[in-house]
Amino acid sequence: MSSQPQVATPDTEDSGPLPRPLGGRHAWITGGGHGIGAAIAAELGRLGANLTISGRNEKALAASARQIAAETGVACRWQALDIADEAALAPALGEGREAQGPVTILVNNAGIAPSMPIGKLDLATWNAALSVNVTAPMLLAQAALPDMLDAGFGRIVNVASTAGLRGYPFVSAYVASKHALVGLTRALALELAKGPVTVNAVCPGYTETAMAEQAMRNIVQSGKTAEQARAILARGNPQGRLVDPAEVAQAVGWLCLPGSTAITGQSIAVAGGEVM
Ligand code: NAP
Repeated sequence: MSSQPQVATPDTEDSGPLPRPLGGRHAWITGGGHGIGAAIAAELGRLGANLTISGRNEKALAASARQIAAETGVACRWQALDIADEAALAPALGEGREAQGPVTILVNNAGIAPSMPIGKLDLATWNAALSVNVTAPMLLAQAALPDMLDAGFGRIVNVASTAGLRGYPFVSAYVASKHALVGLTRALALELAKGPVTVNAVCPGYTETAMAEQAMRNIVQSGKTAEQARAILARGNPQGRLVDPAEVAQAVGWLCLPGSTAITGQSIAVAGGEVM
């Protein structure tokens, strides 16, 4: 990933009378080019944080950043970053600090969900799931932490999954990595509890994004129609529907508020009651 980070700024300083509880903060959202990550970036922008969104798809990042800056009136950088590239993570955060100030809100949203029966799960796929879904969040938290402690404020939010709280068949690498992410969340929350940094996870159920579309395509391949595939995913949610990305984003935004200091180590399901 060699291209230069860029920044989208709002056309006008007058972004209306919105409350800006995260004004002056710099929030980094991995996987912010589309899906749940783009919704989280927009929500944190509405709350006033300046943003960096990262991912591998620069076209999607640029489009997302421009839209968020126009809608929310904050500055939104985008940075090409493959989070499987472990050596690139701390330097990327350093670049973000230089450009837009210390990162005091980190949302580890990027994730992958390989699906196959255990007999077909190869080591490369297993390692990739662990690398993207849990190793990168750990390394990014490690890199961001000194700035959060210096600033006297920090929020780390890991986008896990209901698959971090219960099992599902045919996605063992995903389920194992998301359970590990929930474990990391709990351990870090306790380790940091005496200081100004909270660490939480949000655990969406099936949510209307490309990832859920892929899950539906997998079901269709097993002989179901597209409607049946959607119904199967919706059936797991007691509300009988898929979650909207904005609903996940609002939970993340709430965890990032200055008044949410007492909430740490939690794994909050956003799943219509699927787990409780
Ligand atoms: P999505 O649209 O497929 O988004 C996945 C995001 O992860 C993309 O923005 C992608 O960015 C990024 N990503 C994947 N591998 C990456 C890598 N190696 N380096 C950098 N970025 C990478 O799916 P989504 O539903 O929004 O997923 C967001 C998070 O929600 C994931 O952690 C997922 O596990 C979790 N989740 C989703 C659901 C669901 O049903 N949708 C349910 C529970 C949890 P690029 O394409 O730009 O690389």
